[in-house]
Amino acid sequence: MQNPIYTISTIAKILQTDVKLANDQTIIQFLIIDSRSVLAPENSLFFALISHRNGHEFIEDAYHKQIRNFVVTEGKYIALYPDCNFILVDDSLRALQTLAATHRNHFNLKTVGITGSNGKTIVKEWLYQLLAVDFNIIRSPKSYNSQIGVPLSVWQINADHTLGIFEAGISATNEMETLAEIIQPQIGILTNIGEAHAEGFASKEEKLAEKLKLFAACELFIYSPNYVNGIDFSALPGQRKFSWSSTQGADLRIIAIEPVEGNCHLRAIHQDQEITCLLPFKDKASIENGIICWATLLALGYSSAQASLRLDKLSHVSMRLELKNGINQCSIIDDSYSADISSLAIALDFLNQQNQHAKKTVILSELFETGKDDIVLYTEIADLLAQKKVSRLIGIGIHLAQYAALFKCETQFFEDTDAFIRDFPGLQFSHETILVKGARRFEFARISKILTQKIHDTVLEIDLNAMVSNLQFYRSKIKPGVKIMAMVKAFSYGSGSFEIANLLQFHKVDYLAVAYADEGIALRKSGITLPIMVMSPEESAFEAIIKHHLEPEIYSLEILKSFLNALPEEITNYPVHLKIDSGMHRLGFDHDEIEKLSEFLKDSQQIKVQSIFSHLVASGEAAHDGFTQQQIDKFKIIANQLTIVLGYKPILHVANTSGISRWPDGQMDMVRLGIGLYGFDAALLNNRGLQTTMVLKTTVTQVKTLDAGETVGYSRRGVMPNGGKIATVKIGYADGYNRAFGNGVGKMLINGQLVPTIGSICMDMTMLDITGLDVSAGDEAIVFNKEQTIIQLADDTNTIPYEILTNISQRVKRVYFYE
Ligand SMILES: *Cc1c(COP(=O)(O)O)cnc(C)c1O
Repeated sequence: MQNPIYTISTIAKILQTDVKLANDQTIIQFLIIDSRSVLAPENSLFFALISHRNGHEFIEDAYHKQIRNFVVTEGKYIALYPDCNFILVDDSLRALQTLAATHRNHFNLKTVGITGSNGKTIVKEWLYQLLAVDFNIIRSPKSYNSQIGVPLSVWQINADHTLGIFEAGISATNEMETLAEIIQPQIGILTNIGEAHAEGFASKEEKLAEKLKLFAACELFIYSPNYVNGIDFSALPGQRKFSWSSTQGADLRIIAIEPVEGNCHLRAIHQDQEITCLLPFKDKASIENGIICWATLLALGYSSAQASLRLDKLSHVSMRLELKNGINQCSIIDDSYSADISSLAIALDFLNQQNQHAKKTVILSELFETGKDDIVLYTEIADLLAQKKVSRLIGIGIHLAQYAALFKCETQFFEDTDAFIRDFPGLQFSHETILVKGARRFEFARISKILTQKIHDTVLEIDLNAMVSNLQFYRSKIKPGVKIMAMVKAFSYGSGSFEIANLLQFHKVDYLAVAYADEGIALRKSGITLPIMVMSPEESAFEAIIKHHLEPEIYSLEILKSFLNALPEEITNYPVHLKIDSGMHRLGFDHDEIEKLSEFLKDSQQIKVQSIFSHLVASGEAAHDGFTQQQIDKFKIIANQLTIVLGYKPILHVANTSGISRWPDGQMDMVRLGIGLYGFDAALLNNRGLQTTMVLKTTVTQVKTLDAGETVGYSRRGVMPNGGKIATVKIGYADGYNRAFGNGVGKMLINGQLVPTIGSICMDMTMLDITGLDVSAGDEAIVFNKEQTIIQLADDTNTIPYEILTNISQRVKRVYFYE
């Protein structure tokens, strides 16, 4: 089979629509939807999609990045860029899908389609691990399973592939048919049906029926009867069916699940015989996903001996990039998820987004890219490294070294991972960002380990994608043209400093705000160029504020006078922000001071009032809506008065997070987004629409069995009248786990079970009552995550999420994830 070649005019023909082509022979290889991630601009086709942002807004940016091919729904751009190819359609998402479906039709490739509420991505990745020796597999990258992700995944199919594994996820009715047309699976896997994502559906039944549409034309359907309750066997899809269950009759009937030292031993009946396998995991979700993979191997005709041999070697899937602190002030980005050029491009974008060090090193293994000659592949990689301004390449693998001449940056090559580790003591790594990216078989985990600082086993994991999603959520709520100031005070509510600011800068917020000058200076030193407002500018820091172009909040005449004194004479129009006290009674000008303030402002050429603002005291609470309205009204009057005096219009802003949600009238020119970014909004029911951004985890250090009547911890506060078992974990009040959590008030999750604290919280440790549970040293204990929420923790101890977050001390290591 040949690979189809698409010129822009063939694509126009496929989309059957109006075109304006400047160069109709341009060959298209890449479909892109984000102007920030571009591999080969001249062969890329940009789809201007309309979702939370209007993709047409990024055409200009794409043009600057040398992209010349566009699919648009707004014709007005065509005249603006006469040297570009434009395809005008009614619906650009539909066009992307049509193109992918046409591409799919070109190949008669065997494909597996996976859907379900949970486990899609893990099952897909594990099947890839299990089947890669027998097939040349194309699979969805990461969790690309949406109306956009599926077409982008399927577009990657080429003639060398012998199996496709694609996942499909839906959030509303009538979405699955489109995905089924694009994937056209012969083999279908339903992982499970849970409560997740039920919002877009009238009922669980409706959701199930929609999901099953993926499998309408399948030859083989793999499922558990537990998840298709209420559906007649004959109504299930698939000419052939293969079922698994641990509670009812099935083709693979699980009869025992026995944990053994971090692993799990499974026994089952298949074709009237008892068969077994060992999974190298012990948590519930992994066991279910493992069973699904087991069922799939058997259904595909593998013998039970072959299947168990392969399952035994499954390994953890991490699709996220991890950013950690490294040795000698380095930052380490760890990415061992996949070893192909598109994931390298994503990782390099992240490297540039987190630009805290000028020097950028990439440690790269040989990559495996089907259907490409090495010379073509490594030329592309060399171009990519040059384009992303990588300073040094450390290449690992014999083949890679042969192409040394292609790379323009500083290079070093090693035969294999062992050779690198042997020479490591003589290599220089300091003050640089290091991307570690290698194919699985190079075992780069060993390299990241020697590059990263030893982690005290309590970590705060921050999901940067979730934070971006929360930012977009608020973007969708504000009116067009309203700016966003992101609040990154107090280490971004505990989550980090430049890491978060870099992310926000990359995603183009308009302003940042910090509490103190120090925080702003730290951001400037790590390359943040966005304007930064300092809310409590101390006089002693004025010089530093000016030096680092920070913008002070002016809240009184005294501070205004002393700031003017500190400003060197030659400076004019220095940006400042006026704070009005409209009812908070914390900082700010009162109404009766405005006249005096006006006198001052009228004459001063030295400063420019960049913005005027006030803070709402109860924007999230309906009981105080009357007061909030008064605050807004009062602010408007004062702001008007000042604007007239100034003779120009500063940015006006009053709304914090819940102000954005509840007070459209308060959006004015800008909003100040704080806690919402981090996943909380008192104005939303159960934070609906926001994603959890942070997980705090620690580790069990020791497990002890106690006799009846023994006590636990200081002052004998933890009493065990009947004896039992305790686990000691590595977190205490010095880490921010407040003493108020002691004596059973606080709970942590171990292996999916909620367990209470016992006794008082110590400075560095906490004891948990694990009586009756199977827990061992080294197990993970989750302090908060999506299930055991910060809201719950705050409720348990009579405080608010803000305090729980900002209490987490700096000695707790932050690890950032980015997909
Ligand atoms: C912290 C702060 C905010 C953000 O408030 P959230 O409730 O976290 O959104 C906004 N404005 C000012 C002045 C603040 O100090």
